[in-house]
Amino acid sequence: MYISLSLGELILKGKNRQKFVNQLKRNIRRVLKDEDLGEIYQEMGKIYIETPPDRLEARMKKLKHLFGIVYISPCIRLEKDLETIKKETTPFIAGYLEKNPAQTFKVVCSRADKSFPVKSPEMNRILGGEILSHFPNLKVDVHNPDFYFYCDIKKYVYFYISKIKAYGGLPVGTNERGLVLLSGGIDSPVAGFLMGKRGVQIDALHFHSYPFTSQRGEEKVKDLARILSTYTGPIRMHSINLLPIQKEIQKSCPYEEMTILSRRFMMRIGQKLCDELGYLSLITGENLGQVASQTIYGLRASADVVDTLVFRPLIGMDKVDIIRIAQDIGTYGTSIQPFEDCCTVFLPKHPSLKPSIEEMEASEANLDVEKLVNEAVASRKTYRID
Ligand code: ATP
Ligand code: MG
Repeated sequence: MYISLSLGELILKGKNRQKFVNQLKRNIRRVLKDEDLGEIYQEMGKIYIETPPDRLEARMKKLKHLFGIVYISPCIRLEKDLETIKKETTPFIAGYLEKNPAQTFKVVCSRADKSFPVKSPEMNRILGGEILSHFPNLKVDVHNPDFYFYCDIKKYVYFYISKIKAYGGLPVGTNERGLVLLSGGIDSPVAGFLMGKRGVQIDALHFHSYPFTSQRGEEKVKDLARILSTYTGPIRMHSINLLPIQKEIQKSCPYEEMTILSRRFMMRIGQKLCDELGYLSLITGENLGQVASQTIYGLRASADVVDTLVFRPLIGMDKVDIIRIAQDIGTYGTSIQPFEDCCTVFLPKHPSLKPSIEEMEASEANLDVEKLVNEAVASRKTYRID
């Protein structure tokens, strides 16, 4: 058996296509590293992986999480010869019908290799006739069949029926490394997922306020990173205690500015890690208007302190749609586990809704910002999540 992977957007990549395909092949080898892999090759818009039937399900499950793949199909490969194709049609269809009762079908031949003498419409007729003569209970329905029987004619010939939808996007690693500010909430894991889907290789930065937040809270964030890593590959998670900074803010600044000043420190620390470790983007789960710190003023105030590229892929989404993605990718159940977040520990009753950058800067004049940032960065713990 073979597994075929449809590459979708990747095949449009012009001169860069090979770079993208090679990255995807590396990612395939990484997720299937425990498998005894045979050949992985590419033929006209698809990648093929030779696979023993008993490894099919397990491999497809892992491959489904790889970005850059649009569809996954289990298929068989034949020599490009009309008699062979006809002969193999009946057992292939019989194998399918054993597990999937059906009344109607449609044949879809696609002759990519124009040197093959029989054109696609004629092939459809020949294979359709073959099926009808062996399975008298089946009928052709070209509009709404119970199943499609695909026959791709390339260097070899491939038969397949199922097309399992994957996530599409671009292979992780084709858009450099980015650092996602990962809280324990619903939004930031989705933000990391979405940027991973555009090819960014993700690491994570988490802030806690131990002992006000619990060890289990940090474990929960590691769990989220672990789920993300099934899509994006191994993640390094930097974990930093924000409590020393929050205490300084509490001592020297107006309390209603706590949230937004904390967010400015988070961004500064993120920037510093970008500079030190070579990340080219910061990623947040910010969403316009969701909470006080995410008004236009709040976003402006937290963006103001960094000059790195900041991605906010959720900025214009509705909460229900974010939740739907979180459920689909498997982070939701973990995100809603109730643990204190570092921001809720020091949550002002009346957070400022229109924080101006001048006000923030005036408040921060009471703090040794650079020293606090440097100390926080130096105190980080880094875990490898795989
Ligand atoms: P989320 O669901 O991602 O927690 P949120 O709706 O709670 O988001 P905020 O608390 O305002 O929103 O946080 C906005 C963004 O700031 C988060 O999406 C995340 O990227 C970052 N952030 C907030 N708290 C933390 C934290 N404790 N550690 C790391 N990043 C954080
Ligand atoms: Mg949150």
